[in-house]
This record gives sequence, structure tokens and C-alpha cells, in this order.
Amino acid sequence: MTTEAPIVIVGTGLSGYSLAREIRKQDKDIPIVMVTADDGFSYSKPMLSTGFTKGKEADELAQATSEAMIEQLNLDLRTYTTVTGIDTEAHELVTGEERIRYSKLVLAWGADVIRLSIEGDGQDRVFSINDLMDYRAFREALAGKKRVAIMGAGLIGCEFANDLRNGDYEVDVIAPSDTLMPGLLPRPAAEAVKSALIDLGVGFHLETVVDRIDREGDGVTLALANGETLQADLVISAVGLRPRTDLAKASGLEVNRGIMVNRALETSAPDVYALGDCAEVDGHVMLYVLPLMACSRALAKTLVSERTEVAYGTMPVMIKTPCCPTSVCPPPSDAEGEWELEQDGNNVKALYKAADGTILGFAVTGSYAVEKQALSKEVPPIHD
Ligand code: FAD
Repeated sequence: MTTEAPIVIVGTGLSGYSLAREIRKQDKDIPIVMVTADDGFSYSKPMLSTGFTKGKEADELAQATSEAMIEQLNLDLRTYTTVTGIDTEAHELVTGEERIRYSKLVLAWGADVIRLSIEGDGQDRVFSINDLMDYRAFREALAGKKRVAIMGAGLIGCEFANDLRNGDYEVDVIAPSDTLMPGLLPRPAAEAVKSALIDLGVGFHLETVVDRIDREGDGVTLALANGETLQADLVISAVGLRPRTDLAKASGLEVNRGIMVNRALETSAPDVYALGDCAEVDGHVMLYVLPLMACSRALAKTLVSERTEVAYGTMPVMIKTPCCPTSVCPPPSDAEGEWELEQDGNNVKALYKAADGTILGFAVTGSYAVEKQALSKEVPPIHD
């Protein structure tokens, strides 16, 4: 019944395009339809927080237009097309009035930014940056401005803080935690990054939150819960991401923190797969590039030839704070062990060791960051 229908991929982020590339390595002709809510430009999302450091405008971060991708990957590509439902019984994707038949459907539709509801009339000066179109809008708004306040001290907030300082902007970071990147970095490593960012001129306002954002002239005033007030021209909200699960759930797919898939990237519905930021793969929600690359290689094989399971190796994360280069491979949440520390100023080497000495995770900053590759080889892979 579904033999002539194409493979349909929703999303043209790194997951969607990596998968299409992997499929094309194996089969030049199998019909692929890609559907995306955005402009379909190909770009590397991690580059968004390096624009000033690398001296690149938003358009220079784009690697290829949608037309170039159609040509390169032999695709039928529908841009500015939002998927509104999946009819898993009929094997059809719903985009408003239109229905697109699929033989296999892949959901690569990413994660939503978490938006805080904050009092005040300055909301149109608050930017969340989770794709190239967001970044373009932010860079346009930033023209001629000087001061940026960043809500959130996670990986993305810290990377933007470093990058904007490299672009000579005044930067204040506000976050409820008492340290940076809690949950990702052990405290000594987080303190090293914080101290390097302070030396670079970033202002930190931790253990508090933004209560109000009000317009003031061309900029805004932020009222913090601790009684402080800050002036800024623009605000970046970097308070977290949440895998997009609503539409999958409404279509009857099983979801948890992400769209639930097994190691073959199969959802609970026949012929429907998921990967990337929207997916929870065998219990792991990892909003990073390495996991999605591993998934796209395995899934391409499944779609074109034989069912293949993904095997995650170790998944180190590089934090793009050039003032204090940092890499981390967090230990599994159920790991039993202790952190062992070597430290010289902002140079930190923290190893999470089991009782038998096995290294289960690490964080390295400053001059120790070069040890990332060697340490990654010592940490057991996520999947055996
Ligand atoms: P996305 O890139 O979000 O793509 C989702 C696609 O789905 C888009 O094309 C969107 O238009 C489309 N879509 C969504 N909903 C619909 C719908 N209903 N209908 C149709 N289309 C839809 N990771 C690292 O490993 N290292 C880093 O250094 C790093 N740096 C980062 C820096 C920043 C600033 C950010 C924001 C993230 C960073 N990440 C990093 C994370 C990494 O970039 C992401 O994990 C990855 O890009 C996710 O790709 P994706 O294709 O799954 O999702």
C-alpha cells in the first residue's frame, strides 16, 4: 500500500539534513520529501554562539540555501510549512489543509525554547535564540546597541556571554543558581569558567531572577527579585529547551521527556521514527550534535537497507567559552563514585571515579581542556 510513497523527514536542522545526507550516501534516488517550518537554510547551530568571536554575521553562518540543499541532496523540500498532525493509520502527514503520504516518517523537529512569563512592557526586547532566523532577528535588533542582559547561566547563556564580550558588548547574566551550568559542570569547573568570564568583564547576578522587564527609552530596565535593577538595550532569554512532544502526543505517539524511541529510533507507531533534540533515545535526552550524528547514521541504514540500532559512545560536550576552554562528559545519573580534583587557578581537571578507579566522567577547563580526547577514550561508552 505504501511502497511508492516517499520517506518524509520533518525538520531541516542538523538532524534532518544529516539524515538526508546519510541516506544519499547509500541511495541516490530513493524519494525524500523534507518539510520545515523555517526557511530550510542549512547551518550549524553551534556556530550561533560564536558569531562575534569568529567575526561572522548571521547570513555568513548559513552554509547553504534551501535551493542549494534541494540540488545537493536531490530532495523535494517544502519550506515555511508547519506540520499540524500525523495520521499514523493512513500513513499521512498533515500540514494544515494538505496531506503528504509517507512510506516512512522521521520526526526531526527539535526542541522548543522555554519562555518565562515575566511582568512588564519590555517583552518585545527579549530574544530567544534557537535557530538561524532567531539569530538574524537578534543581530538586526543589536545594531547600534551596547548592553545585553542574559537570563540563564546554562551552556547557551554562558557561550553567548563570552561571545558578546568578544564583540565588545556590555553583558550581565542573571540566574537563580549559585553557580554556572549546574547539572553539567562540577562546581570547581563552573567556578573556573565564572572567574574567567568575570575577568573578561561579564557581570553576574546569581541566586536571583528577573521579576519585571520594562521599556525605558530604546532599552529596558530589569527589576531583579533581590532588589537590584539593571539597564540593558536587549535581553536574551536562555533558560532552557524542551523537546517538542505535543504534536507527537496528540497523534498518539508515546512521549516522556522526549518522543520515546528505542535504539532503532522507532517510535510507538509503525514506520514513524524520531531523532535529534525532539527524541528520547532509549531513555537518553541529549540535546547535542554527537548523539544526533550517531542516530542519523544508524537510521539511514534502517530506512534504506536493514534495521540498525544506534550505539552511543562517550559523548563529551565542548563548551565554547574561549576565555576558559572547557569540555565535560557528565557521569551517568546513577553512577556511583566521587570527583577527584587537580586545580591550578582556572585550570581544572575533575575526574569522576568509581571505587575501582574507572573514570566515569570528567570536566576539564583551561590548559587541561586539551586532555578531552584522551579522557574520552577512558570513559566507558553509553551503550556497550
Ligand atoms: P533543530 O535544529 O531545532 O531543527 C528543528 C527543525 O524542525 C527546524 O527546521 C524547524 O523549523 C522544524 N520544525 C519544528 N517544528 C515543526 C513543525 N511543526 N512543522 C515543520 N517543521 C518543524 N550542541 C553541541 O553538541 N555542541 C555545541 O557546541 C552546541 N552549541 C549550541 C549553541 C546554541 C546557541 C544552541 C541553541 C544549541 C547548541 N547545541 C550544541 C545543540 C545543538 O545545536 C542541537 O542539539 C542540534 O542543532 C539540534 O538539531 P535538530 O535538527 O534536532 O533540531
